[in-house]
Amino acid sequence: MHHFHYVNNELYCENIPVSKVAGEVGTPFYIYPHATLLRHFRVFDQAFSGIKHITCFSVKSNSNLAVLRLFAREGGGADIVSGGELFRTLKAGVNPKKIVYSGIGKKAEEIEYALKSDILMFNVESEQELLKLNEVAERIGKKAGTAIRVNPDVDPKTHPYISTGLKENKFGIDINDAPRIYLAASKMKHIQVAGISCHIGSQLTETSPFIDAIRKLKKLVQILKDTGVNIQYLDLGGGLGIIYDREEPPHPKEYGSAVKDELGLSGLTLIFEPGRVITGNAGILVTKVVYTKFASQKRFFIVDSGMNDLMRPSIYNSFHAVQPVTLSNRQKVKADIVGPICESGDFFAKNREMDSFEPGDLIAIMSAGAYGFSMSSNYNSRPRPCEVMVRDDQFYIIRERETYEDLVRGEVIPDFLMENE
Ligand SMILES: *Cc1c(COP(=O)(O)O)cnc(C)c1O
Repeated sequence: MHHFHYVNNELYCENIPVSKVAGEVGTPFYIYPHATLLRHFRVFDQAFSGIKHITCFSVKSNSNLAVLRLFAREGGGADIVSGGELFRTLKAGVNPKKIVYSGIGKKAEEIEYALKSDILMFNVESEQELLKLNEVAERIGKKAGTAIRVNPDVDPKTHPYISTGLKENKFGIDINDAPRIYLAASKMKHIQVAGISCHIGSQLTETSPFIDAIRKLKKLVQILKDTGVNIQYLDLGGGLGIIYDREEPPHPKEYGSAVKDELGLSGLTLIFEPGRVITGNAGILVTKVVYTKFASQKRFFIVDSGMNDLMRPSIYNSFHAVQPVTLSNRQKVKADIVGPICESGDFFAKNREMDSFEPGDLIAIMSAGAYGFSMSSNYNSRPRPCEVMVRDDQFYIIRERETYEDLVRGEVIPDFLMENE
């Protein structure tokens, strides 16, 4: 279903054996089936057919240029959170008029870059940011399309680190303060009030928190209308969950019809910022077993990828299924899959039943297409893995494996340290 399947006991990505790719590019690597990316984007976008909307892919979930380009060709926009993400999206050919800019710490130079690029809308997260936006826009003679990101205070019932729509979270502006701030914004010469935005959290597995938020936003739209502030765009953020293990998230269609029931007649243009639901199950991380180890009743499979490549297990304790790249009749054992990094948090699976792997075996870490490579780092001076896109029986390296030279790029030893004592 996600274009990862077994043929004659070999894991395939579309129509190419994963082990064949491993043989050519080495390990570890990320691999994304083009067909899955495309299908996930289309299924999501079509869930809102019949209602004016823009699907703005959340760039932070998977920022590779080829991935961004694919969605841009489908008419998708982008949800960005930094100047760097803006640079990527423009390079990938995303229409700036479909770019929305979220985030609580936009700097003046980032704002200027986005204004000069003529993006659709800034999702403003504080009063100070609103003032700064107006100021920068005035300086360069532009008008900034603006939405206030409101915090609707609904519980998304997800992991606390990826919950963003509760009163105590750092994101957005209290929905009760919003009318006052909109009124102020509507009087600023270089602010063009365009929308309302919200994003209540990530990996939501129910539609009810979204609906609770929508109802609060609808009330706000009405309050604003009564004070003469007209809203054109309603940005509902991202957050739809996926199946990592045994979750039962709503299908995008179900989410779509729930949203249409609430907003179908509103006349508003809806904006969505999906990330995980599109890319999460459209990528895996492939790694190779280096050693096996049995210590004080615990079995470890030590692999050549680590938390620097895929941080989610370490920081969210999140579950990723692990599958052998080649199926065998080996006995099943309880084991941990751990990386080579000098941290106890460096693991992919803990106390799981799995094949009794041997050195040289390839393991697929599933559901790694979102917040995988995009969160990776060079910790322990490990070159980051390559990224590969598959289309039918062909594969394409869409980001080369980093080299040792890449690791020290930009580093300088000052002259005084070069002198011998
Ligand atoms: C992270 C984020 C998203 C994407 O969330 P997903 O759960 O990956 O869909 C969308 N909008 C904003 C503002 C975000 O911070």
